[in-house]
Amino acid sequence: MPDGAAVARRTAGTWGVVATGGGIMIDKEFLEILACPACKGEVRLSEAAERIVCQACGRRYPIRDGIPVMLIDEAEMPSRDAK
Ligand SMILES: [Zn+2]
Repeated sequence: MPDGAAVARRTAGTWGVVATGGGIMIDKEFLEILACPACKGEVRLSEAAERIVCQACGRRYPIRDGIPVMLIDEAEMPSRDAK
């Protein structure tokens, strides 16, 4: 199985994610392409633009250097903070 998350990670730097002085902007279209790798749910940018949040399962994916890390292993679970 190709890893879609890895593809998103590799391409995010060239399109969809724009670094600005005060933070990052992620294109709405880019977010529409992204999907939660765990449940394929719709994802959204958090209010502080620091995470990608799955609307379906609640997993939160970090954004590192302006690039969404859409990996299940990196996601924070909504109800289980500690591993
Ligand atoms: Zn999900």
